[in-house]
Amino acid sequence: MTNATVCLSVHFDAVSTWLWSYDSWDMPTRHSRGVYGADVGAPRLLDLFDEYDIPTTWCIPGHTIESFPEICGEVHDQGHGVQHHGWTHRGPSTYESKEAEKADVERGIESIRDLTGKRPTGYASPAWDFSEHTLDILQELDFEWDSSVMAADFRPHYLNGGWKAPADGPYERGEPTDIVELPVSWERDDFPPFTYTWSRPHRMGYVPEDAIFQKWYDQFDWMYEHVDDGVFVLTLHPQVIGQAHRLVRLEAFLQHVRSKPGASFETMDATAAAFRAANPRE
Ligand SMILES: [Zn+2]
Repeated sequence: MTNATVCLSVHFDAVSTWLWSYDSWDMPTRHSRGVYGADVGAPRLLDLFDEYDIPTTWCIPGHTIESFPEICGEVHDQGHGVQHHGWTHRGPSTYESKEAEKADVERGIESIRDLTGKRPTGYASPAWDFSEHTLDILQELDFEWDSSVMAADFRPHYLNGGWKAPADGPYERGEPTDIVELPVSWERDDFPPFTYTWSRPHRMGYVPEDAIFQKWYDQFDWMYEHVDDGVFVLTLHPQVIGQAHRLVRLEAFLQHVRSKPGASFETMDATAAAFRAANPRE
């Protein structure tokens, strides 16, 4: 019998995603979509996870923690993991210097420490963007795992550093570091297909829910059948998945996972730690 692990990675961006990811931040109607995530989506998700007793991981920008402290406190109080997702939601590659990028990460650590009393062990990059400095910063600040990279789909691994991608020569993949990677995919993320924007970088939305959920079923079922000890990271945004017509489908998906012998929901921290224990670095 296979063991299959499902990590629900809740990116609680709230308003922050509308400040840095799009081409105008001073627009209250956009902000309201993030407020919906905090006021409506997040409580619904917490209720659903509580009903099924499912541990999850909330990757929360410091901006969200300081803007919506009560609901972030609820996340922590209900026993879910709280991990790093930037203080701002600004893409790491957009900073002018390593120092500026590192200052944002350090500020995010402090926000989480203020909320939970502990520093985060893991990092999910805003918009899954890395700069040339991001991995160094994660190592310097003693992160244990990352979940932003797509070199695998269902197999955790040690994240390579020192890669080179010259335009006029072959790609060099570098060497493994001590950071455990829990791989992600845009194909297991609710935001791009379901969220309509009228500006750069995308205009998606109005995609039939069942088509996207079917991708998630197909990926999970394939992993369950073919990958021993596979890890399925599903990325969810309260302002997106917390809407009624998606919540009913999410609940059905959770029931599907729970119906499979050997499948379980785990936090990302526990999943990374289990990988490290089973695959110790020399
Ligand atoms: Zn995000």
